[in-house]
Amino acid sequence: MKGSGLWHAEQAWLGHAARNVLIEVEGGRIKSVIEDAPPPPGATTLMGWTIPGLANVHSHAFQHMLRGTVESGAGDFWAWRREMYRLTDWDWADYYKYSRFVFQEMLDAGVTAVGEFHYLHRHGNELGEALIQAAGEVGIRITLIDACYLRGGLDRRPLNEAQRSFSDGDVEHWAKRVDQLKDSEGVRIAAAIHSVRAVDPKSMRAVAEWARRHKTPLHAHLAEQPAEVEECKTVEGCTPAELLEREGILGPDLTVVHAIHVDEHDIALLGAHSVNVCACPTSERDLGDRVGPLRELADAGCPLAVGSDSNAVIDILEEARALELDQRRATGRRVLHQPEELLRAATQNGMRALGWDAGELKAGMLADFITLDQPRHTAWREIHPAYLIYGQSACDVTNVVVGGKTVVSK
Ligand SMILES: [Zn+2]
Repeated sequence: MKGSGLWHAEQAWLGHAARNVLIEVEGGRIKSVIEDAPPPPGATTLMGWTIPGLANVHSHAFQHMLRGTVESGAGDFWAWRREMYRLTDWDWADYYKYSRFVFQEMLDAGVTAVGEFHYLHRHGNELGEALIQAAGEVGIRITLIDACYLRGGLDRRPLNEAQRSFSDGDVEHWAKRVDQLKDSEGVRIAAAIHSVRAVDPKSMRAVAEWARRHKTPLHAHLAEQPAEVEECKTVEGCTPAELLEREGILGPDLTVVHAIHVDEHDIALLGAHSVNVCACPTSERDLGDRVGPLRELADAGCPLAVGSDSNAVIDILEEARALELDQRRATGRRVLHQPEELLRAATQNGMRALGWDAGELKAGMLADFITLDQPRHTAWREIHPAYLIYGQSACDVTNVVVGGKTVVSK
């Protein structure tokens, strides 16, 4: 991922619309970006619309396997979870093969960095290493977000059989195992508190301390279902967001995933600590989750990002527009977020939540950029986030560059 070269983009989004953009890359990073430049000899031409690579902040690669298989039954989120638990026992070779296939689908969709929220620890680091190897093989950046998972619920009920395979027994063993994983080219090791359900307060403090000592992102599922909030209030006397605040977990390095059932006080706390919020609208739809107060969270100070989560759909532009459109149906209002804000969620904010200097086309950033077909048969002639978000999808991606290396060229 330390490629060098020259690219000439017909049109590019630099925070504003630009034409004839010359992007010079050296050692995997953007060295210069020059507008209105003629194409020099030897430059690779990018016809269409070039934008920063997309960030998929929350993925469980293996859940891709549920696609199409859980749509004909019935039940709620917890019934879906029972189905998902049947797919948690993998050996290295199968996991590697399947993850490689899922990551290739992501790369084809313009995702240049994925946050893999990983909790399958039956065989120690074996499956985490399979994810890293699969990502390296296809050429996508990976932040391996290794999740601590220690209990079956806030009431300390024991782990069921599937959950036992997620657990390291205690947080010391979790840290010891994760310490064996190392950052490398295109790979970041990050940490997660799976949820307030699965990790006790003392252990969540230890996970946060580990992440902060390693200066790496910290993630957690938060308030996807009302049952979690109710149980937390009963056992801890506060909401999940308040519990994270009480334990010193909130901060700008934290990304909470979902944040659907949050009240006004939770929103104020998350905003005051600049906590990133990752919405996963296509998965949340699939699971029958409600719609979170994303406008209010953004107003309070939370940067928004998006993820494909269960990978029922892999299309980050769809996630970004769903972030807005789902709220329209939930609130009866329109245009709660401007298209530029949604594009930032899919790029810059997401890359920061995953710990990468990417998501903008400017000197010094990692050279991750993608090109989409220019829309035909419409009045749109100039690149604009409004059309990118509302008019385009994963299938419009024609070229993908990660770290100055072309990894997809259709
Ligand atoms: Zn998840």
